[in-house]
Amino acid sequence: MHVLILGGTTEARGLAELLCAPAGTSAAPPRVTSSLAGRVAAPRLPPGEVRVGGFGGADGLARWLREHRVDLLVDATHPFAGTMSFHAAGAAAAGGVPLLALRRPGWTAVEGDDWHTAGSLEEAAGMLPALGRRVFLTTGRTGLPAFAGLDALWFLVRSVDPPEGPCPARMEVLPARGPFTLAGERELLRRHRVDVVVTKDSGGAATAPKLTAAREAGLPVVVVRRPPAPGGIPVVPDAGAAARWVRERLGAGSPQSRPAAP
Ligand code: NAP
Repeated sequence: MHVLILGGTTEARGLAELLCAPAGTSAAPPRVTSSLAGRVAAPRLPPGEVRVGGFGGADGLARWLREHRVDLLVDATHPFAGTMSFHAAGAAAAGGVPLLALRRPGWTAVEGDDWHTAGSLEEAAGMLPALGRRVFLTTGRTGLPAFAGLDALWFLVRSVDPPEGPCPARMEVLPARGPFTLAGERELLRRHRVDVVVTKDSGGAATAPKLTAAREAGLPVVVVRRPPAPGGIPVVPDAGAAARWVRERLGAGSPQSRPAAP
């Protein structure tokens, strides 16, 4: 059995680790390939096989699934990687390959939060001048052009790799990769005198402490809503549930479990 994981997330790496670990059952372990887009210069690599770079659209992915005899496809891309999720749905349907979406749940506001929801990065940028002057921007380096025209504001930009292309005129870049701690986030907001935070609704624990720190400091947070995801696909919230989905199908597809020929 060959499982392709569309990755680039903590959950995708976690799933590869679970599938590559000894299963403790008689079923043979699957062949696991993780696919990365190639956006990060030095990604944390999962166990198993890894391929890097785009497939060339949904058709290219469908071809890859066929040529590499993929039995199961798991879309474990980031909730904001909307294009790839639709390509996965199209390719899986075209090739008759079972598809699972591994998508961490979004965040929910709690008592004391001052959240302002935006439908896009551009809308978030438009909301900022009314909310603050010193912005902690955690939406990733590829979205920076949306904030490039806001010359009256100062930005603290946290990203894994350095930004490229149009950027805000007044900006400090903080190269960092999660997970982040609450103590660290509190200190960061204080030291940089941040008065507004911008985040995507990425969900998950690794980057959530900034939300707690902002709540404690009484700061507004602009939360960018997730893009639409393809419907009609089973969705699980974590790597453990995704591993169970794969193993159930592994068992069903193993030679021992197939009915004997008449
Ligand atoms: P996207 O807009 O949905 O995808 C753009 C194109 O990148 C796709 O059409 C595909 O190219 C290629 N691609 C995306 N994910 C891929 C993967 N796992 N393997 C191979 N090719 C992939 O995606 P994105 O928002 O640029 O995100 C790119 C990657 O970064 C994803 O893997 C995602 O999990 C990760 N990531 C994204 C974010 C975010 O905020 N967007 C945050 C953290 C991590 P082809 O059409 O040529 O196949």
